[in-house]
Amino acid sequence: MKEEATLVIIKPDGLKKSLTGNILSRLSESKLKIIGARILKVDIALANEHYRHLQKEPFYPELTKYITGQLHGENRVMALVYFGEGAITKVRELAGATNPEEADPVSIRGAFGRILTTGLFENVIHASSSNEESEREIKLWFGPDEIVQELYPVKEINPESLKRRVWK
Ligand code: UDP
Ligand code: MG
Repeated sequence: MKEEATLVIIKPDGLKKSLTGNILSRLSESKLKIIGARILKVDIALANEHYRHLQKEPFYPELTKYITGQLHGENRVMALVYFGEGAITKVRELAGATNPEEADPVSIRGAFGRILTTGLFENVIHASSSNEESEREIKLWFGPDEIVQELYPVKEINPESLKRRVWK
């Protein structure tokens, strides 16, 4: 099996329900390596870009409310990059099916997910489903210096021209 990287997002319901430790323990069964981790707030621009392929779906408006935290009063998510042999398949297996009622009951989504009365699948985590998707998503959620491995080609830019916050 090929070594590859995959993006995991613990969605706002996972943080709100204090499931982070539990989810990380389950994912560690994969023996994959965590090579990046961030806690961040998801704004609408990031939500739209992450789920851009789903923009025509009827559940899309509810989905962006979900990932930006408007359903839970909790706009933090935890984003992680896992790396190793067959990482994409291994993480998808531990995550379980998209629909939490169809997911294996011992999978993360089967154990902790639910379907809202609106029909939205509140399924606790996101996991990339292909190599193209993982590359696009990892580049969206992480910069090259936030991952402890050289995954994709990089270029250098002049930091003098970039306005950014530093510690006082
Ligand atoms: N989703 C939903 N209803 C559906 C399909 C998807 O609520 O019929 C939500 C669900 O939260 C899912 C997300 O939209 O995780 C992204 O959908 P995708 O088809 O990419 O499923 P995933 O890759 O997350 O299993
Ligand atoms: Mg998907």
